Amino acid sequence: MNHTALFRSLLITIVVAIMLSACDSPTPTAAPAQPAPAVTRAATSAATPATGISLVTATAAPALIPTRAVTRSGVAQPEAPQPATTPPTAASPIGQHPLKGIDLKLNLNADGTATLDAPALETGSAARSWRGLWLPETDQGVVVRLNTTVDGVNLLAPVGFQVSPITETWQVAGYIVGSASYSAPEVQSTFGSGQRHPLIAALNNLLTQVPYLNYTNPLQDSDLYSDDVRRAVVRFQETEGLNPTGVADQRTWLELLSPPYANVPTTNAHFIVTENVVNLRSGPGTDYPAIQRAQKDDTLDISSKISGSTPETTWYQLCCFGQDKVWARSDTGRTEGPIETVAELSSDQIPAKPTPAPVTASGGTSYARRGQPLLENLPNNTPEGNPIVYLTFDDGPNAAGPAGGYTEEMLALLKQYNAHATFFNVGKSVSAWPQLVRDVAQSGHYVANHTWDHSALAGLTKEEFVAEAEHTRQAILQAAGDLFSLDKDVRYLRPPYGSTDADTRQYAAELGYAVVLWDIDPQDWRQPGTEEIANHVLSHVFPGSIVLMHDGGGDRTQSVAALEIILRELSAKGYKFYNIFGN
Ligand SMILES: [Zn+2]
Repeated sequence: MNHTALFRSLLITIVVAIMLSACDSPTPTAAPAQPAPAVTRAATSAATPATGISLVTATAAPALIPTRAVTRSGVAQPEAPQPATTPPTAASPIGQHPLKGIDLKLNLNADGTATLDAPALETGSAARSWRGLWLPETDQGVVVRLNTTVDGVNLLAPVGFQVSPITETWQVAGYIVGSASYSAPEVQSTFGSGQRHPLIAALNNLLTQVPYLNYTNPLQDSDLYSDDVRRAVVRFQETEGLNPTGVADQRTWLELLSPPYANVPTTNAHFIVTENVVNLRSGPGTDYPAIQRAQKDDTLDISSKISGSTPETTWYQLCCFGQDKVWARSDTGRTEGPIETVAELSSDQIPAKPTPAPVTASGGTSYARRGQPLLENLPNNTPEGNPIVYLTFDDGPNAAGPAGGYTEEMLALLKQYNAHATFFNVGKSVSAWPQLVRDVAQSGHYVANHTWDHSALAGLTKEEFVAEAEHTRQAILQAAGDLFSLDKDVRYLRPPYGSTDADTRQYAAELGYAVVLWDIDPQDWRQPGTEEIANHVLSHVFPGSIVLMHDGGGDRTQSVAALEIILRELSAKGYKFYNIFGN
């Protein structure tokens, strides 16, 4: 069998690998959307050049997803297929190749086998390897297909991708899914909340196969990256010891494809949350920090317990969120199954009480360890006992729209309700409308960083990351630094599309940023209707929740109208509106 024929046989297998990034908005304010990157598709029946295998061709092919889903801001696409900057050396790709922007190493062996090595993670996952075959492709790069773990366990579906040599590392130029291939920029930078893609349907299928998720594949919109998908991805990542970002990155896909999954203790006793929201703590007591939140009807396995004389003094240890087990007080839920058989922990097995890290540590100690940031000092309630909600607005400032622009309209509404909020600004827009930034800061709102031009952060080099973040920080400080009574710096960063990776999270920490994601995403940028936006927020809000909305990036008429409803309804329920700095 020659390479071409073999490759054709590979193509007809189900092949999945991708990075889906959670997205808060597909288009930034100031950066006009570029034409969609070419979406290429190699049909199984298409003639393959006899000279080689071309998975990701440069020519246009039927787009698989709406243009909306693949537009993004106007920076150079770092992952785009590009000519090798150095010619292939000695025509031999054999050896080990770190992959650009991905914490994986590809080993190509002389016998045609390939392994992909993933390192152990500080979040708890052990080092992993996958095995498969590789084939040379055209005059540079290779095609790799992985089909087992290093222990010989078959993957649920083989993983295919095309890699090309660049100067120091190799980069993934494309992924293969079924009979279609996708360019790396398309799948790495543009998927997320509210977006659609055939691969999200594949992700939904994989999530249903993880027993402990109890995940139901949605009958409709299975190609939509919904809040449910994101929650399931976070829970999977936590349980498997991956970085719980809510972004289905390459490692997450590989782990999803590689059962058996984490060993979940089988006590058969379950804890079913009965409150709307329950803080899950790092130890058995309210003086331990809340490190997770569970919602009504979430069902968790009970791995051990500490029995007190009352429900308020009895705590259950729940399994599993990464290497950290979490605790819930027994009166916040009900149990199911043989609770009497659950092991009782002795006092020396109880975790020591930690000292919470300060939110604004200049060293940047607090960044996301899960779908929402660990901003431990953010209160859920005011000292008077009122619930607090943290409204956040992305992609502005924005002078477009009536009444001085959408940002000004929102400022007027917030003032009317004595509300403070956080505005994650795009640097380009800050430099375009510095007076708007001053107006925001002067009104007691916190101005934070949403990158210079709405770039996805995952895969950026340190230099690129610093340019995106620091350029924006300087622009904000130049526009309104003198007005920052809260803090003389820009401490918070929200990654566009929620897209980060281990490297960029590290860079953020080094630069002193807390990465802020969100709890509630009404997807107002899709303009689903004022009522739908408002109802989503009102039906999901809980004390301490962070709400994601947009004052920039497009027509925000619905967002403004929904904000008025949200402020009115939540005020009537006693909610207070704080900025992310906590006042
Ligand atoms: Zn955004």
